[in-house]
Amino acid sequence: MLIDSHAHLDSERYADDRGAMLLRAKDAGVGAVLAIGIGEGPAEMHHALDICRQFNGKPGMPKLYASAGIYPHNTTEADEAALAKLDGLLAEPDVIACGEIGLDYYHEGAAHPVQREGLICQLKIAAARKRPILIHCRPKDGATDAWDDLFEVLEEHWKATGLGGVMHCFGGGWKQAKRSLDLGFLVSFAGNLTYPKAEPLREVAGRMPLDGVLVETDAPWLAPAALRGKRNEPAWVTQTAQTLAEQLGVGADEIASATTKNFTRLFRLQPDVGN
Ligand SMILES: [Zn+2]
Repeated sequence: MLIDSHAHLDSERYADDRGAMLLRAKDAGVGAVLAIGIGEGPAEMHHALDICRQFNGKPGMPKLYASAGIYPHNTTEADEAALAKLDGLLAEPDVIACGEIGLDYYHEGAAHPVQREGLICQLKIAAARKRPILIHCRPKDGATDAWDDLFEVLEEHWKATGLGGVMHCFGGGWKQAKRSLDLGFLVSFAGNLTYPKAEPLREVAGRMPLDGVLVETDAPWLAPAALRGKRNEPAWVTQTAQTLAEQLGVGADEIASATTKNFTRLFRLQPDVGN
């Protein structure tokens, strides 16, 4: 069984076939999916949990979990009401993570100090609710600015909680991967691992310990190389898992069992998740 550790199941792009898409995931061997609860902003933060409630327990479906969080460029909307909403969502048993939160210096949007402040506020809420965090970190091209700022924040405001988290859609170098592991984070690889130009990322993946990795789709974005340009979906996490297996020189079944074990350990879930 594989777990897709990051999919935007609430995307409008699944409006017509969300149920069928989830059945395809289960058929492809995906036993669980973490649905990311950021919506288009805090007003839609609860959509991922709604989808969990809609589909969990239905036959032939993967087990769904949700997260909730305010995306870096939506931190301009991280007012008291939005943070209270986040706190309420993180109290729900199916909302196992706070995210995706972090720093994005690649796209234009919220000013860097606003992103940083929004991140720190959310770290405090996640810590109080004992929820691991899902980090989005994207520096400017050729720079490590967002990583440097991120690690500074995590050292000061997160490390001591011991809760750890996930570096989602990892795109950094070995230095950042190693630092993430040292902070108790799992490093999650997405479809971009399969892209022809991603040789440096594949080299990083090949150096990872098996107990430090996850796989994800980031669906509906980042379809793997063979399906590039199409709407991505959780069933296709198998392709990223295959590439990761090749880089680590292990079988696809070993990647499946290791990433599932890592996921259940981080989120303190029952080991029979998805069965
Ligand atoms: Zn995402």
